[in-house]
Amino acid sequence: MKSMAYVATAIGYPYIGENREWKKSLEKFWKQELTEDEFVTQQKEIRLSRIEKQLQLGLNIVSVGDFTNYDRILDTAVMFGLVPKRFNWQGGKVDLATYYAMARGNKDAVACEMTKWFNTNYHYIVPEYEGQTLQLTENTLLKHFVEVKAAFDITAKPTLIGPYTFIKLTKGYDRVSKASFVLALLPLYIQVIKELAAAGVQWVQLEEPALVTTLNQEEIQLVQEIYGQLTTAAPEVNIMLQTYFESLSAYEQLVQLPVQGIGLDFVHGYQDNMQALRQHGFPSDKVLAAGVINGRDIWRANLAEVKTMIQAIEQLSGAKELWIQPSCHLQHAPITTKFETKLDKVLLDALAFADEKAVEIVEVVANLQGQESTAISASMKAIEALKNHPIRNNKVVQQAVQTIEQADFERSTPFIERLAIQQKALQLPLFPTTTIGSFPQSDEVKQKRNAWRKGNLTNEEYNAFLEQETARWIAIQEELDIDVLVHGEFERTDMVEYFGEKLTGFAFTTNAWVVSYGSRCVKPPIIYGDVAFEAPMTVKETVYAQSLTKRHMKGMLTGPVTILNWSFVRDDIARKDVTYQIALALRKEIESLEEAGISIIQVDEPALREGLPLRKENWNAYLEWAVGAFKLATASVKDETQIHTHMCYCEFNDFIEPISALDADVISIETSRSHGELINSLQHNPYDKGIGLGVYDIHSPRVPSEAEMLTIMQDSLQVLARNQFWVNPDCGLKTRKEPETVAALANMVQAAKTLRQQI
Ligand code: GLN
Ligand code: ZN
Repeated sequence: MKSMAYVATAIGYPYIGENREWKKSLEKFWKQELTEDEFVTQQKEIRLSRIEKQLQLGLNIVSVGDFTNYDRILDTAVMFGLVPKRFNWQGGKVDLATYYAMARGNKDAVACEMTKWFNTNYHYIVPEYEGQTLQLTENTLLKHFVEVKAAFDITAKPTLIGPYTFIKLTKGYDRVSKASFVLALLPLYIQVIKELAAAGVQWVQLEEPALVTTLNQEEIQLVQEIYGQLTTAAPEVNIMLQTYFESLSAYEQLVQLPVQGIGLDFVHGYQDNMQALRQHGFPSDKVLAAGVINGRDIWRANLAEVKTMIQAIEQLSGAKELWIQPSCHLQHAPITTKFETKLDKVLLDALAFADEKAVEIVEVVANLQGQESTAISASMKAIEALKNHPIRNNKVVQQAVQTIEQADFERSTPFIERLAIQQKALQLPLFPTTTIGSFPQSDEVKQKRNAWRKGNLTNEEYNAFLEQETARWIAIQEELDIDVLVHGEFERTDMVEYFGEKLTGFAFTTNAWVVSYGSRCVKPPIIYGDVAFEAPMTVKETVYAQSLTKRHMKGMLTGPVTILNWSFVRDDIARKDVTYQIALALRKEIESLEEAGISIIQVDEPALREGLPLRKENWNAYLEWAVGAFKLATASVKDETQIHTHMCYCEFNDFIEPISALDADVISIETSRSHGELINSLQHNPYDKGIGLGVYDIHSPRVPSEAEMLTIMQDSLQVLARNQFWVNPDCGLKTRKEPETVAALANMVQAAKTLRQQI
């Protein structure tokens, strides 16, 4: 066999900074604590320091353009002058004020929409095409390429969201103007690439994650046309067509695109990409960039397996050169494990964040090139040690999951009969009013929690404060005349962390932040062991709250699928099994609440939809166990006990069936911003269970009038039976202020009362 060239590289590297310097810099600038010059200087320092870091770690080729001042899709839109008219931009370079207005809104214009980036928990800004004249406002890639060349004397690889994906994600064009959009956009891509080539760029990486979704013939043709034109117009540079998150669709055709390199995800698309290589081979004149280290998780890889995989890829492909890289942009992983001094040592040793992943790439490449190292055996030892950890060997939990029976998923009586039983037991008025769970977390709540965490407040003092806050809000709710009350969730910062801290099997890091959208970062817990119930988690707070009122107090839990989807999850067993473990623990919690006299229990599943696989043909397999987990958690209660669930942003339309399959007695969902759409879809897909349509948007401090909410309710009654209909806000109220919350709820209750009188 000819000797193979290997290159250690990365698609992209995190930009938030080891200590979230990037986020802090952005937020200071927004608060005007930094001048624009200071901000620009700081951002440049951060940009360069992360290049320096990657070079130190030993990567052979580093990217530019993987950095952003807010969001990379927004950067691409702005680069091509795709600024909606409402921002009043006059052409030329897009200034930071306009850029951030698009991201966050300003006093004259609402922000651009934000939505989930494929199947990740990252959210991007949706580009809007309004037929505006496109133009290259600034070649930021060129600027960053030159900057890195000057600082380190290296030839970096500029990376850019590819034209097909960008077109796919842009909203606003219809079938006719799509062609004109493509026509206007392509010359700008070509211009960017030609300018880069003139500056000495050798490789341009075009990221095309949209090529892993299902493509029809027309779409394949569009991709072929785009890349045909692009490569004909700019033959002087090499194009690396980068895919990730799944296997490449229409492999046989797309692998023949006239580009010089193709990047494939061998982690998430392992089976299909391997199969495609086996069946169709790989063009011998192209470079294959192989994503072999999971760029979206936190786990150390088994480097022996990685090495074997690379050798198999090498044999099957016969590519002229192999680039070895993580499976996607590393922004989905935290940066470094070096600050994690408090973690269980066995766990810590089995972790790899972005920096450690880069080292894995470098080490496996060195090994393939014949260098001796202990990296491979060390990785295997670390994984073996975690496997043998007692926390992964809870026989009771494992046995419980294995012996789940069909009957465990089902409530003993069908919904229609439960409804009558519950109506009798609960004695609620028509159109019962309730809230989603949390009440405002005031500065005082946050201060007390911090003081308690620092040890400046005793457990007793902190608990007394929480009880006092709950009591105060029960009085407010009674005064407002709300029918089903909540305790307010003052003891919780986060819906997953709170439960993770009380269950076995979870670990919490000091610094494992990942970006969620814009400057917002999240620090998901790690599920590293078998999940087990230890003791009741919410019973004390709920029972205390119930003791203060004669009205029904709703118990409040986070569902198994949301706990899973908002955590980093162990990868040694199936996600389904992890979820069932969580579900069994929640089942015990729900039984404890019921035993303590709580008769309405809400199990939130806002992340149910998030877990959907990228390809529709895989939806059912996921939904089967995800819906199953919710049912497993909730099915053991008595007929009289009413199970509620809640989802935000759920796009009800194509999701009614799975929602109904949850068999929850009542669901509350976000609708105030899209209620027309929802009513329309309910018209075509009747829903028979209880449903609380969010009647006001909690994301804004605005207080909606009674009349406004009444209209939403009246419209809803066109498609819903009276005894199905609940009245509630869109979501929890923890980010709102108290005065606006009380005012809005007062109008909401009044609207429900008016409606009761009208019928
Ligand atoms: N019960 C949670 C709350 O009210 C629900 C939050 C959510 O749906 N994201 O805060
Ligand atoms: Zn919500």
